[in-house]
Parts: sequence; C-alpha cells; structure tokens
Amino acid sequence: MNYRDEFRDRKIVQGLAQRIATLAQGKGPFTFMEVCGTHTMAIYQYGLRQLMPPEVRLISGPGCPVCVTHNGYLDRALALCRLPDVIITTFGDMLRVPGSTSSLMHERARGGDIRIVYSPLDAVQVAVQNPGKKVVFLGVGFETTAPTIAGSILTAAKLGLKNYFVLASHKTMPTPMALLSADPELSLSGYICPAHVSAIIGAHAYQPLVDQFRIPCVVTGFEPTDVMQGIEMLVRQAVAGDARVEIQYSRVVSWEGNPKAQQVLAEVFTPCDADWRGIGTLPGSGLKIADRYAAFDAERALAVEVEPLKEHQGCLCGEILKGKVNPSDCPLFGKACTPENPVGACMVSSEGSCAAAHKYQ
Ligand code: SF4
Repeated sequence: MNYRDEFRDRKIVQGLAQRIATLAQGKGPFTFMEVCGTHTMAIYQYGLRQLMPPEVRLISGPGCPVCVTHNGYLDRALALCRLPDVIITTFGDMLRVPGSTSSLMHERARGGDIRIVYSPLDAVQVAVQNPGKKVVFLGVGFETTAPTIAGSILTAAKLGLKNYFVLASHKTMPTPMALLSADPELSLSGYICPAHVSAIIGAHAYQPLVDQFRIPCVVTGFEPTDVMQGIEMLVRQAVAGDARVEIQYSRVVSWEGNPKAQQVLAEVFTPCDADWRGIGTLPGSGLKIADRYAAFDAERALAVEVEPLKEHQGCLCGEILKGKVNPSDCPLFGKACTPENPVGACMVSSEGSCAAAHKYQ
C-alpha cells in the first residue's frame, strides 16, 4: 500500500456516501459548488456525482484558471508572439486555448518562438540565455501560482535582467464566490473550497462569505475520500442550518495560510479589476504587477496592437463556469468540440469541466 491508497479506498468512499445519504434523507435539496479545477477532475474521475443521493447536487464553478482567462488576454499574447524579437514562455495548458482567431499552437506552427516551461524560473533562465530577445512569461492562475510568478520577477530584478516580462492575468478566488453566492438562480447551499488556493490565503479568507451570505464553506482535499468527507461536512452544516468555515484538508491547509507567499504577493502585485470569462469584470478580483516592478510588466513595457475581440459562436464555457449548465448541455460537446479539436477553453485545459466530462463521463 502506498501512502495514497487509503485516501482512495473504495469501501471508505462507499461508507461516506452512505453517511451523506443518511444525513440528507428527506432534507434539502442541497447544491454544492466546487471552485477548483482539480476538484472538478477528481469528481469526474472517481464518479463522485453518481454516489450522491437525490437530495445532493454537485456543480462546478469558475475554478479552472485557463478557462476563466478572457479571450482578450490570449489575443494580446498572440500579438506579442508575432513580434520578431519576442519569445513566449508558458505552461503547456495555454498552448491550445483558442484566442479570437488563432492559438499559440497555430502561431508556433507558423514559426513563432513559443516555449513550454515547467516553472516561471525556467522562463527567467530563457531570458538569461537569450539576452538579445524579450522573453514573456504568460502569468495565468489564482493565488496558487501567483507567488512563484512573483518570485520570478524578484529573481529577474536581482539578476538585473532587462529582457524578462510577465503578461499577468492573475485572479483571486473569494470575489467570484461572493457573486455566485448572491445568485438566486443557483441557490447554493455551500462551497467545496479550493485546497491549493487555501494553502496560500488560509481558510480565514472565506469568513466574509459566511458572514455575508450564511453559506457553509469547507476547505477540501483532492482525493476521493477527502472530497466525500468535505461533502459530508457540508451536508451536516446545511441540515443543521449552520454556516461556518471548516477545514477538511487539515494535513495541508491552515487558518492563516502561507505568510511568506502572502508577503511575496503583496510585494510584487497589487489588486485590480479583472475580466472573467462568462462572468465579466469583477472589481478587485485580480492581481496586477505593482508600479515598482512596471519594467517587468509586458502589458506596459511592450506596445502591441491587439485584434478586436471575437467570442466563439455556440460555446457555453461562460455559462458552465457560472454553474448554470453542464458540459453535456452544450450542443457542440463531443461533436464540433473535442479535446483534439477544442472550440472553447473548457475543453482544452486539463482542469476544464468539458475536458473532464469528455474524458470520464
Ligand atoms: Fe465550449 Fe466546447 Fe465546452 Fe461547448 S463543449 S462549452 S464549445 S468548450
């Protein structure tokens, strides 16, 4: 038995399903939303929706960082990669995401210098090795990835690099959760709160949601027994008419989070309004590079003309990210839109709902 087996034990999962069913029997209905792409994948991969009793419904929210990234951001990245002296560096997930009229994959096939890296520090290394080029890292993600990207800017500053830039589109999680909590159409009963994000920001970050909307929040791990136990904790609160923040994933997440990472974030970034695919502009829900590091901000330092925004006809990614519809409700799902030939970001990302549904449903 390796250290993960007990978290994937079928009997324990079935036992938790039984406990959820007993707790929820004759109560509800309860709708719980997960706002983390890794939870979305785990729920599909282990068939956890199928284990829920009729009183409990699980829906996915805006938890996939690539999926919530607006087309306009990608169009700017595409415009930058067409400049002759620019190298684009990115995590692999971004490569196939369709922009308004192209993708990084297509641009690479046309000769664009686009490189996949496994860490923003690798991108800094590319800048060191290519002093005659401008190296742009695509900084997409939530509070989880933002500290490492902030760290890359600090490293570049320390090295005195003048050719390293970040195209930043970082988002912070609690803000969209507040918007969705107030949506009467969703009528949410609780949140399966993200694990990685919470490891950085701490479970206390969800207390304002609880105070304002009286909505249960449980910070939950990623293994099937974690998710099932997190749901059990949510059902227990919902049945009792309770609303608290609880930590199921106590082996990783604390109430305070990671102070060092928070300090690095505060040093390099500053809050800003952010555009969310399908949701729109949410005040204060993003992180932009602070003025003192403006020389590393690709948006400010590298002038480029960006093509007019075009949405993908028929794609329901925006509604999926708000929890309003399921991937299979999209008429293009599995037909015109597949992982090999994606129409929208939710089918591309390894954390996207459409990709998860296509792979496991
Ligand atoms: Fe968009 Fe494709 Fe998902 Fe439909 S199946 S919502 S087109 S990503």
